[in-house]
Amino acid sequence: MSIETLIKRNKSLKPFTTFGIGGEARYFIEVRTISQMQEVRHYINREKIPYWVVGKGSNSLFDDRGFDGLVILNKIDFFEFEEGSLHVGAGFSFSLLGAKIARKKWGGLEFASGIPGTVGGAIYMNAGANGKETCDHLTAVGVIDEEGRYLEKKNLPFSYRTSPFQNNRDIIVSGRFQLDKVENAREAQLKIIEYRTKTQPYGEKSVGCIFRNPRDKSAGALIEQCGLKGKKIGGAEVSLVHGNFIVNREGATASDVLKLIELIRETVREKTGEELEIEVRPIPYQLEDFHVPR
Ligand SMILES: Cc1cc2nc3c(=O)[nH]c(=O)nc-3n(C[C@H](O)[C@H](O)[C@H](O)COP(=O)(O)OP(=O)(O)OC[C@H]3O[C@@H](n4cnc5c(N)ncnc54)[C@H](O)[C@@H]3O)c2cc1C
Repeated sequence: MSIETLIKRNKSLKPFTTFGIGGEARYFIEVRTISQMQEVRHYINREKIPYWVVGKGSNSLFDDRGFDGLVILNKIDFFEFEEGSLHVGAGFSFSLLGAKIARKKWGGLEFASGIPGTVGGAIYMNAGANGKETCDHLTAVGVIDEEGRYLEKKNLPFSYRTSPFQNNRDIIVSGRFQLDKVENAREAQLKIIEYRTKTQPYGEKSVGCIFRNPRDKSAGALIEQCGLKGKKIGGAEVSLVHGNFIVNREGATASDVLKLIELIRETVREKTGEELEIEVRPIPYQLEDFHVPR
């Protein structure tokens, strides 16, 4: 089947982010295999169409107008595991991966349990928790590069919530991890998930932590200290459970969330002198450097 026939038009983006916020994608495609992703990349290059890749949308804030281009939903979810060597599709659930590996008594990804993204999103964000980061056991990342080639990239420079993919246009299609044998991995993973459900607003619509933690400080604690828990703009509210989460309480718009983010930044700056940097990715309606065919 050709790529064109798989593209849908005017698709609501709300179901494709854990925030439940956003307008419509002009074009939308679900991709299930690496070769299909390669075809999509060639199609994009041919048609010069702006695009945005999304995993589970658990760190994404879509614009209220949606996205004026092609949204690519990554569903490449193969899973190959042998004696600590893991090769996994970038669309595989990161949370499920954490539990699945721990159940096999292999350690290194216990922290992933409860992070509701994909492996690709976790690599892109260098997601982390409990003193661990995605890059810790990552040995290679499979990508489709700008020319549409499949490559495996190694020895990549990662840092706190930062990956090289935030500065290039590679599409992540897979990851390779090398894990360690850990007898009590399952117990550790279950403790992590239990703690998360007690300290974070699980079951509410959010995208996790809105701000990065400033050096040696907790953004959530600073926000709480400024008396901002429960602060509301439109349908967006600073969570009462965790100060660094904004929840979509009732039909929040992207504009409500962005206004609330600005209010938090200003208040924290005034009261504590700290400059908060956002972790969530606001996605613009239009990517200026591309031409969209009408
Ligand atoms: C309740 C809750 C708890 C959370 N807890 C944590 C936590 O403990 N630690 C933490 O770090 N994060 C946490 N998060 C945030 C989020 O889950 C992570 O950042 C996750 O890694 C995002 O993955 P995703 O697939 O949802 O990414 P998306 O939101 O879909 O995408 C995020 C960014 O990655 C890019 N991207 C995604 N997939 C690809 C790909 N295949 N190729 C190229 N680019 C891609 C997107 O274009 C976008 O810029 C939490 C979120 C929620 C809702």
